[in-house]
Amino acid sequence: MENHFGKKRLVIVGGGVAGSLVAKSLQFTAHVTLVDPKEYFEITWASLRSMVEPSFAERSLINHRDYLIRGDIITSNAVNVTETEVFTEDGNKIAFDYLVIATGHSDQVPKIRRERLEQFKEDNERIKSARSIMIVGGGPTGVELAAEIAVDFPDKKVTIVHKGPRLLDFVGTKAADKTLKWLESKNVVVKLEQSIDLNELTNEYKRYRTSNGDIVEADCYFLCLGKPLASAWLEDTIFKHDLDDEGRIKVDEKLRVIGRRNIFAIGDITDIPEIKQGFAAQQHAEVVVKNLKVMIDGGRDCSNCRMETYKPQIPMAIVSLGRKEAVAQLPLLTVIGRAPGFVKSGDLFVGRTRKQMGLKSDIPHN
Ligand SMILES: Cc1cc2nc3c(=O)[nH]c(=O)nc-3n(C[C@H](O)[C@H](O)[C@H](O)COP(=O)(O)OP(=O)(O)OC[C@H]3O[C@@H](n4cnc5c(N)ncnc54)[C@H](O)[C@@H]3O)c2cc1C
Repeated sequence: MENHFGKKRLVIVGGGVAGSLVAKSLQFTAHVTLVDPKEYFEITWASLRSMVEPSFAERSLINHRDYLIRGDIITSNAVNVTETEVFTEDGNKIAFDYLVIATGHSDQVPKIRRERLEQFKEDNERIKSARSIMIVGGGPTGVELAAEIAVDFPDKKVTIVHKGPRLLDFVGTKAADKTLKWLESKNVVVKLEQSIDLNELTNEYKRYRTSNGDIVEADCYFLCLGKPLASAWLEDTIFKHDLDDEGRIKVDEKLRVIGRRNIFAIGDITDIPEIKQGFAAQQHAEVVVKNLKVMIDGGRDCSNCRMETYKPQIPMAIVSLGRKEAVAQLPLLTVIGRAPGFVKSGDLFVGRTRKQMGLKSDIPHN
């Protein structure tokens, strides 16, 4: 571990979209320790493209050490926390002056970057060798995956089974209706208000019965369902009363955990009333970076510091539809086609995110 004489100790739990940006931004201001079970940061919105084009992931899976030149990286889960220390599964005890909690959503992905790259190759092989594919879940992940497959492999028969009454229920009905029409124009079959019993999923017969009794024939399937929040580890800690009914951490407008002066929470794990998106998580990180700089310069209590306030994002979203098109819900407008696709769907903001992390936009890191 690095020597940290004279520097405040900042511990960041969770090296995803929000936590990695804080770590990268404050590595020369404080002694940073990043705790994450994975050795890499994943640009999550590139993962569906990586399933149809595995080499895309070379730029979107970034080893923590590539952007975090200074500071310590503990590759383990945090399992407990007190007012002054974080405890990890592998037995580390890390003291902090400031703490940022950014554990987002739980995802069962490999901890080693190379293995995650392999996983994309395996998914790609499954797609390539299938004639028919079932996607369970019609949220943004299911829709983007269906669109990626429909555009790159127009001969595959793709079926989305979604239990809600419309696709993309996190945006307005106009965006959902336009998306449904777009998918159907690409021969994707969408079965709304139907579900698949996950306990009966098996690849053996390649026939799946929906809750309505419809049969979906599919050589392979992908589950694109919501992921649980990664806040279970906080349930028996000093934060147990700071979690809302959904397990989100309650934060104030400076993004500090309610009632704490030196502990912040950012990203999907917070109870901020807005759509949970990477874009918002990056904004949280930027606010906390500014506030931590002010606090570190002003001393720990910082009673007179002028700190930045976070305002929840206006509901906006862009869902990519293959390589050139997208559907965008903007404050007064819903658009679908090449214009929103031009903004997002080519590079999926990967180059931009890499630059934000201080890396070259186009050079893979191994
Ligand atoms: C497939 C997919 C597509 C998406 N597309 C978009 C998009 O197009 N646009 C958009 O804005 N958003 C998109 N999102 C949402 C976006 O990815 C999230 O809003 C964003 O990742 C939230 O950032 P975060 O830092 O809060 O959490 P995450 O990025 O989920 O990071 C959490 C980190 O915490 C770590 N962690 C978990 N538990 C522990 C623990 N106990 N101890 C230590 N570390 C822990 C994890 O390993 C992970 O690195 C997408 C998400 C997915 C899954």
